[in-house]
Amino acid sequence: MELPGGEASWAEFEAIIDHHKNGGEWYLLKDVGIFADRYGWQDLLRSDDKKVFGRRVRLLCRYYGSREYALHRRQQLDDALLHPRPAHHQLVWIFKAWEHGGCDDHTRFEGIALPPDHPFWSAFLPPNDWHCGCSVRSAWSRSSIVRAGGDPDKQLPPDWNAQASPSGLPVGIAPGFMGRDYPDLRAYFEWSVLNGWPD
Ligand SMILES: [Zn+2]
Repeated sequence: MELPGGEASWAEFEAIIDHHKNGGEWYLLKDVGIFADRYGWQDLLRSDDKKVFGRRVRLLCRYYGSREYALHRRQQLDDALLHPRPAHHQLVWIFKAWEHGGCDDHTRFEGIALPPDHPFWSAFLPPNDWHCGCSVRSAWSRSSIVRAGGDPDKQLPPDWNAQASPSGLPVGIAPGFMGRDYPDLRAYFEWSVLNGWPD
């Protein structure tokens, strides 16, 4: 997708989001507003409409933050695999489904506990979609699975990896999210512009 202001404008935009990711919204919106005027992004971000503009910038900032968090979380899970553990500790990862809407295809996996090398995680390591808020917890015994919100007796649905058409990916995985892939902010931005911004 061609950006008004050229490719260099993207780097500057992402730097503004990064700079304000933990800060006050007022400064974020102010800086993005100045940026939009300078590079001609007014139409893309609808900076003429305070409400729409605010919503779009917040969505982008939230996606940026959740992606950063998820990548960090994945690193933590991987690091934990390297720690030596007593032989009776059977490490498992638990799928925690997002309960606030938008994850209808993932709720069937709520609480499922599987070893980290199970093929399920090669596909469904969350997040699995643009607004997926599902997460992974780890545990190492029956009681710690329960404490972490998992169900040690729950079985994977037999059709867990049935493919959706036309994507060819398992049902519940959006293109770009298979396994460990997590599209970057630029991809989210372009997806929003092409598919319509979520409300
Ligand atoms: Zn989800």
